Amino acid sequence: MPLPTAASSVPGPPADHPPSVDRVLHLPALAELFPAYGRAAVTRAVREHLQVLRDRPGDAAQFHPEALARAIETLLAQARAPRLKPVFNLTGTVLHTNLGRALLPEQAIAAMAAALRLPCNLEYDLGAGKRGERDAVVDDLLCELTGAEAATVVNNNAAAVFLALNTLAPRREVVVSRGELVEIGGAFRIPDIMRQAGARLREVGTTNRTHLRDFEEALGPRTALLMKVHASNYRIEGFTAAVAAADLCGLAHRHGLAVFEDLGAGSLARLEDYGLPHEPTPQESLRAGVDLVSFSGDKLLGGPQAGILVGRAHLIARLRKNPLKRALRVGKETLAALEAVLQLYRHPETLAERLPTLRLLTRPQADILACADRLAAPLQAACGDAWEVRVRNCQSQIGSGALPVAQLPSTALVAQPRARRGAGAALTRLEQALRALPVPVIGSVHDHALWLDLRCLTDEAGFAAQLARLELP
Ligand SMILES: *Cc1c(COP(=O)(O)O)cnc(C)c1O
Repeated sequence: MPLPTAASSVPGPPADHPPSVDRVLHLPALAELFPAYGRAAVTRAVREHLQVLRDRPGDAAQFHPEALARAIETLLAQARAPRLKPVFNLTGTVLHTNLGRALLPEQAIAAMAAALRLPCNLEYDLGAGKRGERDAVVDDLLCELTGAEAATVVNNNAAAVFLALNTLAPRREVVVSRGELVEIGGAFRIPDIMRQAGARLREVGTTNRTHLRDFEEALGPRTALLMKVHASNYRIEGFTAAVAAADLCGLAHRHGLAVFEDLGAGSLARLEDYGLPHEPTPQESLRAGVDLVSFSGDKLLGGPQAGILVGRAHLIARLRKNPLKRALRVGKETLAALEAVLQLYRHPETLAERLPTLRLLTRPQADILACADRLAAPLQAACGDAWEVRVRNCQSQIGSGALPVAQLPSTALVAQPRARRGAGAALTRLEQALRALPVPVIGSVHDHALWLDLRCLTDEAGFAAQLARLELP
């Protein structure tokens, strides 16, 4: 198709040809878009829209100045809409890595905002009036809460493991049980991270059984470290044997070696005190003699993305001196949020109320059920007669590898197509329609139905209000 000429002085193209970019840019209907969006963005949107019209010719009405202006403004508004936006996590997985893991308490959000708005003493010792240590923001709190001698913080737990191995075992051997050579979602595999960190993996034992003597036989002049990995996303059951941390530490210390444990989820609270299954804590590992423990900030801890390392002062000092620590360090917003979250742990009586992660994990099923009963009719109305919406019990998961087999009794809204034929396609369309809502709704499809686990629904009114906008084709 011949392209229209760009000069605005030439007569307009025939009605079934798009006008030129230049002509459109000079339309009075577009005038108010320039101050709102800026010249470059408007020009880009005009080009984009005209290209669409050229590729897909329609009737002449779409070349009308008002129609052009409306279409271009829609493109501009779409381009400006945030890509990162809130969603409803109704997947049933509380700490969902794809949906941003832990939700931060208001105290942490306020602390982050304050740290971002004005200069702060991030690396400045206000007492001495000189350069200070970034970790100082949280290391006292971490030591108080875990019983460690020292602590440091990096970007995430993968970075923490990497830093520990790179610092403590370069070109030397790290002994790990074959039962703990885990892969955590997103290509974090212990053998790979070990290699990348420059350490040599020395596997001992078997997948289901590893004994202390397996470790003992592997020790030699090249051994740098003994490592434990919390098997966070699976469980080996049946004929199993693992070496208790205390025994492993006894062996290591007799040989002048240190033990490093990657705990993964790392709760600082005794979850059993809140009616949840027990999850190993860094406190327990340190008490058992582990020299260095790493865990995530945004899993069970309920804080910002971070990797926390606690343990012996001389080991933490070595980590801090590694140039990689500089490359893996966290920003002030992370430290501000982490400090606020750790403060909440100093008051365990109010923790379940204030820390969203714990609040969601301990949410009573009766509460969730009542919410489902209120929302079933509105969802039925939004889905229409082709669907049957029911309230059904389900099991939520903690997620992020924590307590992999522990399940939390919950309740879901379950939508099932009445017609068997084409049910799969209908479910896909319903999922798409829910994702297209202003605040996308993410559920899960199984057992021929769409399940919306309401455990993590905190904004019930917001959810109900947008149901009227559900567009099911
Ligand atoms: C989650 C996890 C990691 C990775 O932690 P991130 O904070 O996601 O980097 C490492 N090890 C274990 C055992 C984990 O569970």
